[in-house]
Amino acid sequence: MSDLIAKCQLSDSKDCEAFSEKPTHEKLTTRNAELGEGLTIRRALPHSARRMIGAWCFLDHFGPLDLSKNKGLDIAPHPHMGLQTFTWPIQGEILHQDSLGYEQVIKPGEINLMTAGKGISHSEESVSKDMLHGVQLWIALPDVVRNMEPAFSHYSNPPQLEQDGATFTLLAGEFLNLHSTLNLHSPLFGINIFSHQDTITTFPVRPDFEYGVLVLDKYIQIEKEIISPGTLLYLGCGRKEIAIKMPKNAITIMIGGTPFTEEVLLWWNFVGRTREDMLIATHDWQTNNRFGTVKNYKGGRLIAPDVAKIK
Ligand code: MN
Repeated sequence: MSDLIAKCQLSDSKDCEAFSEKPTHEKLTTRNAELGEGLTIRRALPHSARRMIGAWCFLDHFGPLDLSKNKGLDIAPHPHMGLQTFTWPIQGEILHQDSLGYEQVIKPGEINLMTAGKGISHSEESVSKDMLHGVQLWIALPDVVRNMEPAFSHYSNPPQLEQDGATFTLLAGEFLNLHSTLNLHSPLFGINIFSHQDTITTFPVRPDFEYGVLVLDKYIQIEKEIISPGTLLYLGCGRKEIAIKMPKNAITIMIGGTPFTEEVLLWWNFVGRTREDMLIATHDWQTNNRFGTVKNYKGGRLIAPDVAKIK
């Protein structure tokens, strides 16, 4: 994904409330953003009231979109730095191509993890002609590794288990006896839950992690809150377990991690620490430095928004 919003704003992790040490319920409404013709996505993070959950600093929910009637995803080459992109399709296939030379079609049930580090560029295009539905998240890299060499990994079989009539797919971290092998750089958690039947499922969580839940299909209930697509429920830290009530065929993701204490700036497709980081990165992209070339993409590349207008 790429932030294509014309009025690109600087998002500062310290300009909203700090993480909640105690269990809380904070309903955050997603906002719509255009990712091209006919492709409206729901952006849950960053939110004006909540910039990050753990190191998760960006969360887009795209689709479900009928590609027989719409153009689909076609994001021309664009740069990233200081973050990892995490792509999780529910329906439809997406072709990833990057400046390291990786060309990877990702299918539902698989994860693409691209580590931007000091700089990478990639394109993202839907391949399927039927449906497109999924999420993309970004993970802020801690200061000590944020200028690491870029990398790309594809995970075709994330660990799964069945419990209470639901399939749990581990996206990041650990869950019961499951361990994710994703190469991450801070303590993180991510899970996708799909219910085969009406169910209530209870599972342990870490009191030192903050958590948030986003529904991708149907609705779910946590404690007294009922949420559906378009709402991110922030839960804070301090719980030892969570119970989720789901009707049949609901899909939800839950993300979490230790609160990220470094101040992080997010602008366009960059994660940095200072405005100067953004100025240099934009200059490097405009002058064909640092971010490489996506060789086999047919078409031009994205132009950065006006960095002088950062505010
Ligand atoms: Mn991207």
